[in-house]
Amino acid sequence: MRTCNIDKNTSNCNCTYEPCPRKGICCDCLRYHQNMDEMPACFFPDYIEKTYDRSIEKFIEYYSRKK
Ligand code: SF4
Repeated sequence: MRTCNIDKNTSNCNCTYEPCPRKGICCDCLRYHQNMDEMPACFFPDYIEKTYDRSIEKFIEYYSRKK
């Protein structure tokens, strides 16, 4: 059975919210933010991530401008 590689996930995680208990547990992270109509930190560049605005509106705004 495949298990979660928390250490590897954490090493690839750009989230700066340090007290979060979901760090490195990507399935919980995704579900948590999905339930709040948000996206996880790793969907944003660092300068947006550090604002903690993980809204879908911000996600669309950023990726719309990128094209
Ligand atoms: S993106 Fe959200 S749920 Fe995921 S590690 Fe950061 S604060 Fe926690």
